[in-house]
Amino acid sequence: MDKHYQIVIIGGGTAGISTAARLLKDLRSLAGEIAIIDPAEKHYYQPLWTLVGGGEAKKEETERSMTELIPQGADWIQSAVTFIESEENYVQLSDGVKLRYEYLIVAAGIEIDWEGIKGLTETLGQNGVCSNYSYQYTDYTWDVIRNFKGGNALFTHPATPIKCGGAPQKIMYLAEDYFSRTGIRDKVEVIFGSANHAIFDVKKYRLALEKILERKKIDVRFKHNLIEVQGDLQVAIFEHVETKEQTSIHYDMLHVTPPMRAPAFIRNSMVADEAGWVDVHPHTLQHQKYENIFSLGDCSNLPTSKTGAAIRKQYPVVVKNLLSFMKGEALGAKYDGYSSCPLVTGYNTLILAEFNYDKQPKESFPFNQAKERRSMYVMKKDMLPIIYWNGMLKGTM
Ligand SMILES: Cc1cc2nc3c(=O)[nH]c(=O)nc-3n(C[C@H](O)[C@H](O)[C@H](O)COP(=O)(O)OP(=O)(O)OC[C@H]3O[C@@H](n4cnc5c(N)ncnc54)[C@H](O)[C@@H]3O)c2cc1C
Repeated sequence: MDKHYQIVIIGGGTAGISTAARLLKDLRSLAGEIAIIDPAEKHYYQPLWTLVGGGEAKKEETERSMTELIPQGADWIQSAVTFIESEENYVQLSDGVKLRYEYLIVAAGIEIDWEGIKGLTETLGQNGVCSNYSYQYTDYTWDVIRNFKGGNALFTHPATPIKCGGAPQKIMYLAEDYFSRTGIRDKVEVIFGSANHAIFDVKKYRLALEKILERKKIDVRFKHNLIEVQGDLQVAIFEHVETKEQTSIHYDMLHVTPPMRAPAFIRNSMVADEAGWVDVHPHTLQHQKYENIFSLGDCSNLPTSKTGAAIRKQYPVVVKNLLSFMKGEALGAKYDGYSSCPLVTGYNTLILAEFNYDKQPKESFPFNQAKERRSMYVMKKDMLPIIYWNGMLKGTM
């Protein structure tokens, strides 16, 4: 049976909930006219997973039930979208229902391709192989770090776009610091196998991080893409991104950041660009072809770093521009590519990277944010979660 809503939002994650809340705040008459489709029972504050892996937070703190967060005035449809029929203005749901819309907001996040690394799923969560990219295993990362006795501690960064480009190295800095504090640092070789060409894209923060890598004596192997994990032998196989030459590294612990991609239903729909992401205008966030569709967050093709902080600047633009579009007015709000990465560099130290599409720093504080600071660590650990749950998800911050 067909159902109809004026506005349909795909995804009740960071982007979907914030956008729905702001829409209802700005235009109360939309109550009852908005549907949020998401099959998940739970919503996660993923930025804290780095600190869960480092033993600084409990994973249960990052989880809330979806019912608690759906704003009043929006209906939660607990189902998965399997296809967007953008020519005919409906989405197909996994339970067979067709949901018709006048306006669509696509906010379905990113898909983690665990199978993209041969042998990984067979060994993840045991024998020292961990990943902060799964709620299920974040606390196993902490088990591995605190029980580590020495040897090769290997951390990886894949060759695809990922959410939070800094997270693969943040957990490495925490682990290195922990090994130093517990007196085993001289028994550990810390290795970073990264498919990237440099440690960070924005020059100011790259220079600061290069000094940290040197100070911490981390063995960095750029252009190294993890392709296979042989759990029984404790061996990781990397492929050089240019020469395709394969090398293997023995590990005693391994933190994997898996490859990621756009969700399958987006890749298979007409709203996707060639790479599979929702194809939107970089400033207005309106779809390049379908004017009644907007997208934001990890599933969009916005050419900036995929973070919750970026969404904090994207969702007010989507709301403003959608409301203007509904009134037949010009789209006046503009997103400048702002994203931010709180680069945890150890227990109690953090570099707060903030930048725009031009990869120029766009800092919020009147001091040099490339300097490691305790105050910024406290902000990430204690203040940002409060702002997230009580401000951003209510559409007020
Ligand atoms: C380890 C880690 C550390 C991070 N650190 C930071 C940080 O320090 N700072 C920062 O700003 N960001 C950080 N991030 C990134 C941040 O969490 C994400 O960028 C942000 O949550 C993306 O929001 P989203 O709404 O696009 O996707 P999500 O919040 O992931 O939500 C997507 C939603 O879509 C739903 N969905 C998926 N498929 C379908 C479907 N077919 N139909 C309907 N619904 C669907 C999902 O169930 C989910 O609820 C981190 C992430 C991780 C994993």
